[in-house]
Amino acid sequence: MGELRPSSVAVVLGTRPEIIKLGHLIRLLGPAARVIHTGQHYDATLTDVFFEAFGIATTGELVGVGGKARGDQIGLALSSLERAFLDDRPDAVVVQGDTNSTVAAALAANAREIPLIHVESGLRSFDRRMPEEHNRVITDHLADLCLAPTPTALENLTAEGIPEDRIIFTGNTIVEAVNTLLPSAGVRQEILSRQHVSSARYVLSTFHRPENVDDPTTLARIFDELARLPLPVLLPLHPRSKAHLSKFGIRPSDQIRIIEPIGYTDFLSLLAECAFAVSDSGGLQEEASIVKRPILVVRRSTERPEVLGTFARLVSTSQSMMAEAHDWILNPDEVHQGLTGIDTPFGDGSASQRSVDALADLIKGRQRQPTAADYVSSPAPHLTMK
Ligand code: UDP
Repeated sequence: MGELRPSSVAVVLGTRPEIIKLGHLIRLLGPAARVIHTGQHYDATLTDVFFEAFGIATTGELVGVGGKARGDQIGLALSSLERAFLDDRPDAVVVQGDTNSTVAAALAANAREIPLIHVESGLRSFDRRMPEEHNRVITDHLADLCLAPTPTALENLTAEGIPEDRIIFTGNTIVEAVNTLLPSAGVRQEILSRQHVSSARYVLSTFHRPENVDDPTTLARIFDELARLPLPVLLPLHPRSKAHLSKFGIRPSDQIRIIEPIGYTDFLSLLAECAFAVSDSGGLQEEASIVKRPILVVRRSTERPEVLGTFARLVSTSQSMMAEAHDWILNPDEVHQGLTGIDTPFGDGSASQRSVDALADLIKGRQRQPTAADYVSSPAPHLTMK
């Protein structure tokens, strides 16, 4: 990105999925990127290994909001980022997704009148009980550029009155993350044997959303349902869920193998080879459609309706996982074969490049000195004399 000044684009991120979805874009920005990590995820298993996977060096700017309540996270990150942007003003601020870090950085950019670019804009679950939904709406309405990953996201933005000149359709950056980091079939088999599972004969599961892990009855029910599945379940457990399991005294059955969260290449390998996935993750719904594996989404709603009915099924915690995944359990190979013929709805793997081009144009447009032509506008149609 020759035309951008060194360290002129502040990329603010705070969690594992943000690193994954901004990793490629940061690499494309090269020296223009100034990565600021809010520390919302501070566990090394959720951060350092992901920076390493994408070859990203953080600048050492760390806001340090991990483990705090939502209001504290947003407030602390907002004031720290405002100060950081005042001390060294970036030409643009880039955020991704729906986290507290995302909305804090959006507010800080707004306070300092710095152009804001929102990657993965326009997702809506229409569930106002989810903090993520509010983070998305606020960020989209503050953004100077909303980068929409799918036609549905674009429609959501225009339906909310965001003008078309603030929206660009890019696809989702997850496609290039998976395409560049999914190991070869041979390496995947080595990773499977390290985890003692065989291709298409196990379930991969993750859980971390408050709606599932904050209530003891719901969490216990999820683990009961997982234990009823007639396949081994491999579950890299999020630190938040792990803490709640022990706090509520829930002892999962031996059928469920709980492991620490794992690095991205290992995780993608396990997803690409599983019989099916069971999760409340947003990103997993997208990745499943790229590696062609079915996924049970244990949620009240999804902001990724594009995969429902093909790669994904939405199940509530009162439904039977066994019944919902019945055909996937009976004929996994046939199901996988069928999914290979369906394209992912998340784009062609060029979203990061389109995003970088769009932000470079935005910065250039803002920096351009006005010319005489800018002041000579044609008269408004209703003033035109007949
Ligand atoms: N992931 C990973 N290792 C794990 C569990 C998940 O690399 O042990 C990745 C997964 O591939 C996906 C992302 O982490 O890209 C999802 O993160 P999370 O579920 O925390 O966030 P969400 O997608 O729900 O916002």
